[in-house]
Amino acid sequence: MPNQAAELASMHWQQDLLSSIEVGIVVIDKDYKVEVWNQFMENHSEIRPSQIAGNELFAHFPEVDELWFKRKCDPVFNMGTPAFIIWEQRPYVFKFGTSRPITSTSDFMYQNVTIFPLVSTSGSTERICILVYDVTDQAIAKKNIEGLNQRLQEVSRVDGLTGLFNRRYWQERFEREYKMAVRNKPDICAIMLDIDHFKKVNDTYGHHAGDLVIQRLAKLVKLATRETDITGRYGGEEFTIVLPDTNGETAKIVAERLRKLVYLDAVEYEDVQIKVTVSVGIAQYSAAYTTSTQWLEDADKALYTAKESGRNRVVVSS
Ligand code: GH3
Ligand code: MG
Ligand code: MG
Repeated sequence: MPNQAAELASMHWQQDLLSSIEVGIVVIDKDYKVEVWNQFMENHSEIRPSQIAGNELFAHFPEVDELWFKRKCDPVFNMGTPAFIIWEQRPYVFKFGTSRPITSTSDFMYQNVTIFPLVSTSGSTERICILVYDVTDQAIAKKNIEGLNQRLQEVSRVDGLTGLFNRRYWQERFEREYKMAVRNKPDICAIMLDIDHFKKVNDTYGHHAGDLVIQRLAKLVKLATRETDITGRYGGEEFTIVLPDTNGETAKIVAERLRKLVYLDAVEYEDVQIKVTVSVGIAQYSAAYTTSTQWLEDADKALYTAKESGRNRVVVSS
């Protein structure tokens, strides 16, 4: 009799434990019929233990992919090895709402799930236990950090003044294009562009006006090129462009269009109109280049020739 009382008492606190723990506990038999369904599972599914006990799990959760779930559980039953399902693989097994619907940015509960064998005294596994952990906060935090990192990466590629690629990232892209060109020998051009007598703009109207001119030029560069062209701010008032699938002749047409756009344009600043011109150098990729730097240097030399021969002009490297 005292033994029975002790057993009853122990059952009582075990029941308390099952219902107060903030983890889902489910026990199922080999036919996937539910034997234990704790308070956590009841609270989140709104299914009472009396409603689900003896029923196949899948009957209540059509969203659980039966084939997949059985494949996960098979080795637990047959070899006694535990199985783990983490939220990164599959956000949840049981579709539950979040416990903090107001503050949470997710409308479902992310779950980590552990499945382990309950071995009987005879050594066989007749039932398995499924533990369901609510990892919503952790998952949301990780997703937020990933979003921030993505944003950070975007920001680190872009020049703050113009929104074009900054020099470091443009060079990275240029190098990639060069390596592809070595393999595929396509028509592809590099363009280098510099504002003429820009020091005069700064000296006459001030640095801020100069910045506006640089910003305006970036807009015109975007206007004159295609989405697939790689445009960057290489230095102060120097811009670089890669034109894929373009030969020197076509690149010259593009550059001429840009040169004219700039020539006809004006930036309004404190009631004055600031007009600038640009000089442009173009180098088409050639198999003779052994580095990307040689290629860009040829565009730079063509730019120098354009400056020397009077500015406001386009020169294609021969
Ligand atoms: P050239 O026709 O030979 O190119 O003459 P230039 O006066 O443009 O000569 P250069 O290209 O050497 O001068 C560039 C000037 O651009 C020098 C520098 O003060 C100015 N500059 C560089 N970066 C910026 C910037 O971010 N904002 C402004 N406002 N000016 C800049
Ligand atoms: Mg200049
Ligand atoms: Mg310059």
